[in-house]
Amino acid sequence: MQPSCNSFKQQAAQALRDPKLQGAFGKLGDGLQARRAAAVGQLPEFEALREDARRIKRRVMSDLDTWLEQFEQKVRGQGGHLHWASTADDAREAILAICQRVGAKTVTKGKSMVTEELGLNDYLVDQGITPVETDLGEYILQLRREAPSHIVMPAVHLAQDDIERTFVESHPQLPPDRDLSTAESLVAEARQELRELFFKADVGITGANFMIAETGSTVIVTNEGNGDLTQTLARVHVVVTTIERVIPTLEDLSTFLRLLPRSATGQDATAYVTLSSGPKREGDMHGPEEFHVVVLDNGRSELLGGENQDILNCIRCGACMNHCPVYGAVGGHAYGWVYPGPLGAALTPALIGVEKSAALPNASTFCGQCVAVCPVKIPLTDIMRRWRVREHGQKMTSPLARAGLSVWAWLASRPALYRKLTGLAAWGMALCGGRRRRLSRMPLAGGWTRYRDFPAPEGETFHAQLARRKKRASKTGAGGLCHE
Ligand code: SF4
Repeated sequence: MQPSCNSFKQQAAQALRDPKLQGAFGKLGDGLQARRAAAVGQLPEFEALREDARRIKRRVMSDLDTWLEQFEQKVRGQGGHLHWASTADDAREAILAICQRVGAKTVTKGKSMVTEELGLNDYLVDQGITPVETDLGEYILQLRREAPSHIVMPAVHLAQDDIERTFVESHPQLPPDRDLSTAESLVAEARQELRELFFKADVGITGANFMIAETGSTVIVTNEGNGDLTQTLARVHVVVTTIERVIPTLEDLSTFLRLLPRSATGQDATAYVTLSSGPKREGDMHGPEEFHVVVLDNGRSELLGGENQDILNCIRCGACMNHCPVYGAVGGHAYGWVYPGPLGAALTPALIGVEKSAALPNASTFCGQCVAVCPVKIPLTDIMRRWRVREHGQKMTSPLARAGLSVWAWLASRPALYRKLTGLAAWGMALCGGRRRRLSRMPLAGGWTRYRDFPAPEGETFHAQLARRKKRASKTGAGGLCHE
């Protein structure tokens, strides 16, 4: 997937003008936020679990190679194969070599954002192999030739009638006047279409939410049975994952399993938690004859030991995007690459370079909601701010923005002058706001006032109000601002 992150502004503007997209997000409303809040509210130890999870992740990152080696030994000891991939090219080649060796013509796939990072579907098609997405959302998107717009709910930007139309156009062998007016009928049709393909596939590719070092198992956490069918029905199971997904023990997994579904979808637990520990053994009724794990780095190890290392702690729950006002307004495609929302704004510059994604760390209001809900307490806004600092340092921002910041920095280091000028500006803006207390035009803020009024200040800066109130409190002996 060619990144178009630096066209974020144009893509966001287009998304804001798209009535379909706005309708889909309008329907979603704050439902996901409410579901998460309810699930978290029923688990008094949620905050303690977040701390535990962060501790586990930090322990892993401080010794990542040891945990990965332990995982590798276990996988090999259980008859599996492990393929290290430094780059996306290495990973694609390793997957292709497996597919070609077993003569694969059809490959089923469970949902995997890492394979999106690899552009795996297009690559396999170019090599004469047909990939079939089996997650419902991904299946719909594959039919529509679209990319996911959310890491957990890939087709969240679509309305039901979009899907209905896609199915009618993509399944011409079925009667055109069949009833597809309910979610159940759409699911039933997708299931019917996919059933044969599950049996036809020579290779099943899945991602992994976690790799467990002590058992050599990979874990997927899903709500549809497609992941299990993908990995058990095909002759060969290939897990495609990334280095930071390793955790030490099964007990650690239990911590993450309590955080992940609650944060992602507001569920206490997902319908399926599937552990894969090698190929089918003697006496097993089901399972693949070959088990491969492709572990991709793709720039992640360069984050280790650096100031942005914490982004590697991400467990891909999607809570940050579900709570982000920017993501909620423009959806995921506007971000222009695989990972949208605050996660993408913090991670993408590390993976594809800040030059190709400079717009993303700026696509945030810094309201801090993403940090407040992140189950592993990643300081997303700090990371975005550091990318902004780097952009500024490398002169990647506009000369006007740099000049504005320099003036502001000069002023901010002269508090008396700063107070005077901001006081004057607040007074002037209050005057211009008139009785409505709103400004419909403002220099340097045309992007804001083109669509909405800017609320005029009260007429006094915060500092001035604070000083006045303190003075009054000391005179009356009220003893503090809380009595105001
Ligand atoms: S950054 Fe945090 S909230 Fe966002 S997807 Fe990752 S774990 Fe979830």
